[in-house]
Amino acid sequence: MLVATILSQNTNDRNSHRAYLALRRKYLAWSSVARADPAGLRAVIRTAGMATQKARHIRGALGAVRQRYGRFDLGPIRRKTNDQVLRELTAIKGVGVKTAACVLLFSLGRNVFPVDTHVHRLCTRLGLARGCRTPEKTFEAMQAMVPPGRAHSLHTNLIRFGRTVCRPSDPACDGCPLYDECRYEGKARRAPGRIRSAGSAAFMLLDNV
Ligand code: SF4
Repeated sequence: MLVATILSQNTNDRNSHRAYLALRRKYLAWSSVARADPAGLRAVIRTAGMATQKARHIRGALGAVRQRYGRFDLGPIRRKTNDQVLRELTAIKGVGVKTAACVLLFSLGRNVFPVDTHVHRLCTRLGLARGCRTPEKTFEAMQAMVPPGRAHSLHTNLIRFGRTVCRPSDPACDGCPLYDECRYEGKARRAPGRIRSAGSAAFMLLDNV
């Protein structure tokens, strides 16, 4: 998950997944990736983009994991608190709060809500993270708001909502089921004929996926 999330930075799921599969096919063990020839590693993961930087960060992260935990395995973090894991993983170059939060949520099953630029945009527009100017600030603000066991569904639903409805530059406000909850100033301009809907649909964001 740590490597997959580094590969996913600044690209789409399809490209990062292809790069991840190519990586796993080429190298049978993480130790082989850590020792890989940089040019060869770059070529293998090129579909993910920013291959030079990502290859460097992946090799560096694997080296850091080996040094801290004695092997190429993050198993020991299972015994640690969320804050400890966040602190230890973000100390690795190329691993930000979002990447560490993805490891906590998707690998360890913790109720931690990762915030990337898209989730940050949605939380801001919906008024969930008022005054938060960065994904890191939104991450801090959101953790206390996410109900137990709902971080995964909320994160996944927001990602999907951001791709299909509340897109970055052309949000479909006219047909948006969250229009009434939304605090986005431009929503009325984008939906001139809209009347208020009968009830809230915000609960849909917490539905299991
Ligand atoms: S009303 Fe528009 S800006 Fe607000 S959440 Fe819906 S699509 Fe996004």
